[in-house]
Amino acid sequence: MKVIYLDSSSSSRVDKEVIKAICLNLKKYGNSFSKHIYGLNSSNEIENCRTTISKIIHCKMNEIIFTSGATESNNLAIKGYAFNNSSKKRFLALKTEHKSVINSMLEVKKFNHFVYFMNPKRDGLLDFSKFKKKVKKYEINFVSVMWVNNELGVIQNINKLSNFCKKNKIILHVDATQSFGKIKINLKKIKIDLLSISVHKNHGPKGVGILYIKKGINIIPQINGGIQERNLRSGTLANHQIVGMSKTFEISSRDFMINLKKIRVLSKYLISSLKKIKLVKINGNRKHSIDNIINVSFFAINSESLIKLMKNFAISSKTTCDDKKFSFVLESIYSREVESIRITISKYNSLHEIKLFSKILRRNVRKLRKFSKLWRWYKNKSLTILK
Ligand code: PMP
Repeated sequence: MKVIYLDSSSSSRVDKEVIKAICLNLKKYGNSFSKHIYGLNSSNEIENCRTTISKIIHCKMNEIIFTSGATESNNLAIKGYAFNNSSKKRFLALKTEHKSVINSMLEVKKFNHFVYFMNPKRDGLLDFSKFKKKVKKYEINFVSVMWVNNELGVIQNINKLSNFCKKNKIILHVDATQSFGKIKINLKKIKIDLLSISVHKNHGPKGVGILYIKKGINIIPQINGGIQERNLRSGTLANHQIVGMSKTFEISSRDFMINLKKIRVLSKYLISSLKKIKLVKINGNRKHSIDNIINVSFFAINSESLIKLMKNFAISSKTTCDDKKFSFVLESIYSREVESIRITISKYNSLHEIKLFSKILRRNVRKLRKFSKLWRWYKNKSLTILK
């Protein structure tokens, strides 16, 4: 049996159209900064991609910087802002942010900047009244919040956050890596100062991304070298990657509603079948979540053992970017170590696959519980209560 892929929030299957665009582009050559015709063609290609992407997210062309992915974009946003002049900056982020945000902040802290990590609510969402108090108390001037959490799928209210930040003259950085292709981005309607995106969670290539830097925001480069990307990110531009990313933006925008509807059907089926299992907890807030990511805990089940049994399905227990045994995201919301599995549905999954997954999952949960002391204790306890 072919292993069924349910881990697109780690990285996803690349669209055929994207592969084609990348392969065709690899046949071309020339450095986009050379002055001959090859260079000129190469540069035009890059600028066409910049135009395509800027139109889709509604910003100006020169507000987009090409990077090697969201990790780099997050580093550039945070460190680039922290070191833009000698003043002490005051940062706030949620404890559930991606490690590239958390570790960039920990890095700037070493240079005397103030950093505060805030716990989200138990459903993974930002506690707005607590947030306002912390901003005031610590005189925060830079906030970083990811649009969609990579483990829980919860959607933060970026609109509300952006209004607050604008009113209080706070720089807002948003990591949109997991929301890309799932939530439309319109930077004319929603005021964000810095926005990180990479496309490999939504059927684009790995190793490429953007940082949107709103006009007027002062960022200093973190990679020094030549004059590429307005001196903000040196290095010869990888045309094939950028062409692939631009194609991914086009497809994601074109097929947005079709994908949304398809994934919603699969997600609804999976959630209702998960709810049929006894003592199951779907983590996060389902009312404010993308349909793709479902994070679930089963009482008396060790997630690694369950994942081993589910060997015909590619699923994970937490983010791939952290090697700790337990998820730091779940630990932040529950204040304890929690077992869970993360299932990510993509447009390439079928209802048949989801039905199969649900059936085998139920069977394996039952199987593992038979050997669980905790489960036996629970059963005995409930029997005693019934007597
Ligand atoms: N932010 C989020 C929310 C992510 O999920 C990821 C990927 N795990 C990243 C940033 C890093 O992205 P990239 O792999 O493009 O560096």
